[in-house]
Amino acid sequence: MTNDAATADAPQQFGFEADVAQLLELMTHSVYSERDVFLRELISNAADACEKLRYESLSNEKLAAQAGAPLVTITLDKERRQLTVADNGVGMSHDELVSALGAIANSGTRAFLEKLGKENGSEGSSLIGRFGVGFYSVFMVADLVEVATRRAGEDEAWLWSSEGKGTYSIAPLAPEKAPPVGARVTLHLNAESGEFLEPWRIENIVREHSGAVSTPIDLVEEPGKEPRRIADGAALWAKPKSEITQEQYTDFYRQLSGAYDEPALTAHWRAEGRTEYTVLAFVPSARPFDLFEPSRKSKSKLYVRRVLISREAELLPAFLRFVRLVVDSADIPLNVSREMAQKSPAIASIGKAVATRILQELKKLAEHEPEKFAAVWENFGAVLKEGLHEDPSRRDDLFAIAGFASTKSEGKARTLKDYVADLRENQTAIYYITGDDAKRLAASPQLEGFRARGVEVLLLDDPVDSFWVTSALGFEGKPFKSVTQGAADIDLVPLAEEAKDEAQPAADVGDLVAALRETLADSVEDVRVSTRLTESAACLVASDKGLDRQLARILSESGQNGLFGKPVLEINARHPAVAALVMSLRDKGRGGAADGMHLLLDLARVADGEQPVDPAAFARRLSALIAKGA
Ligand code: ADP
Ligand code: MG
Repeated sequence: MTNDAATADAPQQFGFEADVAQLLELMTHSVYSERDVFLRELISNAADACEKLRYESLSNEKLAAQAGAPLVTITLDKERRQLTVADNGVGMSHDELVSALGAIANSGTRAFLEKLGKENGSEGSSLIGRFGVGFYSVFMVADLVEVATRRAGEDEAWLWSSEGKGTYSIAPLAPEKAPPVGARVTLHLNAESGEFLEPWRIENIVREHSGAVSTPIDLVEEPGKEPRRIADGAALWAKPKSEITQEQYTDFYRQLSGAYDEPALTAHWRAEGRTEYTVLAFVPSARPFDLFEPSRKSKSKLYVRRVLISREAELLPAFLRFVRLVVDSADIPLNVSREMAQKSPAIASIGKAVATRILQELKKLAEHEPEKFAAVWENFGAVLKEGLHEDPSRRDDLFAIAGFASTKSEGKARTLKDYVADLRENQTAIYYITGDDAKRLAASPQLEGFRARGVEVLLLDDPVDSFWVTSALGFEGKPFKSVTQGAADIDLVPLAEEAKDEAQPAADVGDLVAALRETLADSVEDVRVSTRLTESAACLVASDKGLDRQLARILSESGQNGLFGKPVLEINARHPAVAALVMSLRDKGRGGAADGMHLLLDLARVADGEQPVDPAAFARRLSALIAKGA
């Protein structure tokens, strides 16, 4: 393409409206942090222009006759370092050129500047090009921009050109040099912008930013080459579900997530009502690598009328951050920055509704395809459970799908509904034990008394479990209760038959309890006879007022040591080791039985996955015991 300005006669010079030169400088150097958005702006303008012409044609037969199938063509010319975006849309008349491209922010330059000031520079820098300023982003990548255009229905054509330095010119353009209808924007790329002459680069940008616009896009890789279609002008989510294959959904999902797995769940719906929007949501079948990043931000793609507004809109709560999501709404105001768009009430209400719907879809999956759902829960259960702690209003929905390992689960997750349906006589609570490994938890001595009574215990092994069980009040009126906490109140639950014929409790066990209290005073808060033990000799539990032991452990790992009090030692009065200790206390006195008492405490610690209090002393006592012929 030749430089049209050279052949046009007597260009008229114009100054941009006041403040505009300054604004241009600001715009091109700070407003857009990502330079490739210029293409998004040009494409969305071109698509808008096509849409306008379509609309005007409705009431104007002459225009209708002139309007072809809407098309945007991007042409690259490496030799001349030119990038051209042409459309067959409505175009611009002389006056429209002046008002549209001569005045930044038709809504008022001052208002725009004020807004920018209010947002304190840094936030202002993410103002997106939806304030009537989008076109000027071209000056980030070009040092000369020309717009050749002909208004639909008019004979004259015009050439607008500017270097983006405060002035622009408009000259009449010979008809044969002008597009028959529409606009052709030619960027003379600056020295830093050679990348935008590479077809693959353009294709990537188009795919990401504008693959969703309503007009097809062709790419001409070099002048004279056949155009190649790089976007078909139909956003997948805007098509009816019946016209979309699962393969297309999968392709789309992969493009969206950058992952290669199949979506485990695909949900596609259109919401009507006060705010209208379309949603396409996917639950991955593999964990994304950034699932446990500390920021825990959900990243959704937000479109407004198929123009990408944000790639990382925080629409969903953190506990749904694994969901890959596109939302497209016509009801979100366009004249806002990304940060402001985030805070818009319309967006907040969309986010809420979308979260509700996704939870419903998960529930449906759990009901109809339990195996598929089990895999989802396996991957994302730990994240979903964060919602139990953080969002009480979602608790019921989450409890409805949450699955847990338990002493009765046998490899298949148990729901709270399953648990409650299986309560034992006189059982008043939902019991749980927390730790880092369900298998090890299942072997914990604290569970013995529960097992002997056939009482199910949830084995909670995700770190987040320690938090929600303490903040959630309960399920169907049954409170959550840690088996490591307080005096076990399961005495009222009758023993299962096979657990009944037991050894008699050791006589004088009260003396031993008193001796233990004194000897172990540095390490334990209290000592008592246990109802929860049937096989082991001793175990440690939290005091009645204290935190659950696992929670205390997690918190002390995070540096809040020593705040959580000492544990309580419970001993099993029917255990032979305890009976032997009672004897040795009677025969040798407190000093003589001290080693045995310390060993009992260390035993309980080891069974809990902890270190003996004093490993060297533990080793000495144990070898002495072995030497005695144990
Ligand atoms: P916005 O698109 O938000 O209005 P822009 O700075 O991107 O702001 O564009 C300013 C105006 O220039 C548009 O509103 C439109 O009237 C006009 N315009 C830009 N590009 C084209 C085009 N390709 N065809 C017709 N009009 C255009
Ligand atoms: Mg625009």
